[in-house]
Amino acid sequence: MSYDAVNIEGPAAEAAPVLLSKHAKYFVRFLHLLPARLASHDSTRGTIAFFSVCGLDVLNSLHLLTPEMRQNIIDWTYGSLVIPHTDERNCSGFLGSRSIKIITEDEELLRNARCYQWGHLAMTYTSLGILVTLGDDLSRLDRKSIVDGVAAVQKADGSFSACIDGSENDMRFVFCAAAICHMLDYWGDVDKDKMFDFIIKSIRYDYGFSQHLDGEGHGGTTYCALAALQLSDQLHRLDADTIENIRRWCIFRQVDGFQGRPNKPVDTCYSFWIGASLKILNAFEMTDYAANRSYILETQDNIVGGFAKWPHSTTDPFHTYLGLCGLSFTGEPGLLEVMPSLNMSMAAYHKVKELHAKWRNSNIEEDHKAYMETLSQRLYETKLSVEDETTATITSPLIKAQ
Ligand SMILES: [Zn+2]
Repeated sequence: MSYDAVNIEGPAAEAAPVLLSKHAKYFVRFLHLLPARLASHDSTRGTIAFFSVCGLDVLNSLHLLTPEMRQNIIDWTYGSLVIPHTDERNCSGFLGSRSIKIITEDEELLRNARCYQWGHLAMTYTSLGILVTLGDDLSRLDRKSIVDGVAAVQKADGSFSACIDGSENDMRFVFCAAAICHMLDYWGDVDKDKMFDFIIKSIRYDYGFSQHLDGEGHGGTTYCALAALQLSDQLHRLDADTIENIRRWCIFRQVDGFQGRPNKPVDTCYSFWIGASLKILNAFEMTDYAANRSYILETQDNIVGGFAKWPHSTTDPFHTYLGLCGLSFTGEPGLLEVMPSLNMSMAAYHKVKELHAKWRNSNIEEDHKAYMETLSQRLYETKLSVEDETTATITSPLIKAQ
């Protein structure tokens, strides 16, 4: 029995099987409405859509979304795209919320609103994840602008901020930067050597990675660091002893499920963070699959689907998605294979690789020039606003409720 801080009902009953169809319905529900209790998450709404869309994908259930709803989600996602005018600071990327994408013909209001519109690395990563998972070819964005926006938020120490203004900088955004550049197959002015230095300096005495240079080793951060190294093709720069010590730190995080730090309770999401770290280091097979699965299933809601962080706790899309990914690593029947360092299905990653092959026949500088010449920012936003009003009407309250 796991350490369980909230279980006051004694040992859980024998776990049910993984309720695949209930989890699929759970994600579809989150694409149709955001419960009132999650209203405060509006600023990161794109991530909820990411967990739901990618969760359906891992469940091999994207067919539950009609073609019309898929298109609505794609249009809604592109509606968060920010491309700076030529005279504006570099802030390309996707917003998490569209609450400051005001639909109005008032020029002054639009101009003022633009002062607060800038891409956010986590929202850009999750938006790209949604788009490629749904089969979009990313032709409505300019790869160079997006990566210029990533380079603009890299700090002198090699880390990244989330956005151009008002953000902390740490390993979470190092991962997001690497994931964006890897998906777009372009690194532009991003300094990979500096990024590597920041990651290496974040290895602590026990070989966990810390969020900041003077922090404590942490499972989520360790995943971000290792995934960023793999996505930037720098994992080979770690020496064999270091890799062995990181593996050891990760393996020792297993109790039955996984914990994020020594002496902390286990939590469903670490079956992904630590599991994926060990997959990246080719050591996941050294864990206890049955104990891991058993813990995750203790956190399953057997009535309406979804996973929580702890048994008898409230479920959420984040732990549901990461719990399923953790189960996928153990070979759970009915789940698609997950690509550890990108945190999306291998099927979606194959679509990314197809785009890479297509882009290799084009010149990114010429594509950028043509994009900026063809689409003035004002016309682009106006077009999206009109599209939003005319297409987002039928199947998706997600679109209507923005
Ligand atoms: Zn968690």
